[in-house]
Amino acid sequence: MLSEELKNKYQLVIGLEVHAQLMTESKMFAADANQYGEAPNTQISVITLGHPGTLPKVNRKAITYAIKMGLACNSEITRHNVLARKNYFYPDLPKGYQLTQDKGPICVGGTVPIQLPDGTKKEVILNRVHMEEDAGKSIHLAEEVDTLVDFNRAGTPLIEIVTEPDLHSPEEAYAFLAEVKKLVKYLDVCDGNMEEGSLRCDANVSVMLKGATELGKKVEVKNMNSFRNVFRAIEHEHERLIGLIEQGIEVISETRTFDANTGLTASMRTKEDLNDYRYFPEPDLSPVVVSDEWLNSVKATMPILPRDLHKKFVEEFGLPHYDASFLTESKDVAMWFNELCSKTQNYKAASNWMMGPVKSSLNEQSLHMDDFPISTDSFVALIALVDDGKVSYTAASQNLYPEMLKSTTESPLEIAQRLNLIQESDESSLKPIVEEVLAANAAKVKEYKSGKKGLMGLFMGQVMKKSQGKADPKVATKLLTELLEN
Ligand code: ADP
Ligand code: MG
Repeated sequence: MLSEELKNKYQLVIGLEVHAQLMTESKMFAADANQYGEAPNTQISVITLGHPGTLPKVNRKAITYAIKMGLACNSEITRHNVLARKNYFYPDLPKGYQLTQDKGPICVGGTVPIQLPDGTKKEVILNRVHMEEDAGKSIHLAEEVDTLVDFNRAGTPLIEIVTEPDLHSPEEAYAFLAEVKKLVKYLDVCDGNMEEGSLRCDANVSVMLKGATELGKKVEVKNMNSFRNVFRAIEHEHERLIGLIEQGIEVISETRTFDANTGLTASMRTKEDLNDYRYFPEPDLSPVVVSDEWLNSVKATMPILPRDLHKKFVEEFGLPHYDASFLTESKDVAMWFNELCSKTQNYKAASNWMMGPVKSSLNEQSLHMDDFPISTDSFVALIALVDDGKVSYTAASQNLYPEMLKSTTESPLEIAQRLNLIQESDESSLKPIVEEVLAANAAKVKEYKSGKKGLMGLFMGQVMKKSQGKADPKVATKLLTELLEN
């Protein structure tokens, strides 16, 4: 562990490269299915395998998805897009080249808003978002002598989101990844699943003396399959790089691999033996031209973004930022809540229900909001029962709500009646109970009248007990006060 003093002497600099697999039905340049988890080498056409004489064809949906991401990040959209061959040899690369955009990415610049756990906000500056295709996968099995290769993934459309060296802590990197995941899911362009490799991240890390004008030499860390591991890898590199510099050892530009078991990184290859990829425009594809018409149609179908919903929840519904952040964390929750609030005015109560009972039950039953059994109409009725004083919040959350999760045919009112949860708010039926309680506590009533007002709680407790928890506290208080004060 380095001292805080040493850490403060240096500025940590991070740039992230995030690959997101696009959820198109077919591949980037061929009609084979873009489907994860199928038997190896079953989703491979001759085009994907690059057989002689085959011709690629661009998947317009993949381009549309890339444009969506660019629009969501306020990037500038390139109209004339050239796909280039990046030539290299690797066993999982059937064509011997990967189609990518080496110059002129489809989305130039842009920003992604992040918020740190301490509330700090920042707009992370993007360098670009470009399109490319994925490679296949080499598989090393313990029981096999040979390395196996599965080409199913080859040709899967990807976007690569590249930041400027604009991040300065593992926390910022983590928040950025979380925001990118949220964005692609809101946009419905990628499922954001890091374990299945739909979202992959390389971290470029360097350190420099605070105040220096030139960035330090960077290392690029690969093979991190969770946000947490990206965080750990950056933390490790931060310390390692400062340690090297402090010892007078020169940092070399290299690619390193992260080991999740040890939390350490190890050198894979130095950037000195730089590949020459001999990029050239793909001769079998004409450039992809994004027309005004195409761009406008994508703009017209942009879904509402998390930051817009956050703003709406704060400004229109008057909710605290904390609530809005929780409610926009996932799209299905945000959309459901948004619908709920089109049917009730009690936004804060709705939010409290979401952050409390709904969240707990989703966690307990590992449910997604998409599978939530209660309709927004029923939920509004539930909120109204509490607002109208018909059912106490305690009874509603502990008895009525769990029952609503099980039964979708009865209305909340019917369930409340069946479970005998309706509060006695009718004065004439509560009055005898209140009178009975006071008569049974004559001595305490005397004490109350001589000034011991704190006894009100005791009387209330007895009324609640006698009414089996169904007395409306407001009405009971009113009756008690009336009877005690004269
Ligand atoms: P390369 O040519 O090695 O791929 P690029 O200039 O394309 O490098 O940048 C790749 C990523 O590395 C980008 O996210 C960029 O922001 C980041 N990056 C570049 N220089 C540095 C640096 N000195 N420290 C940290 N990150 C950096
Ligand atoms: Mg790179």
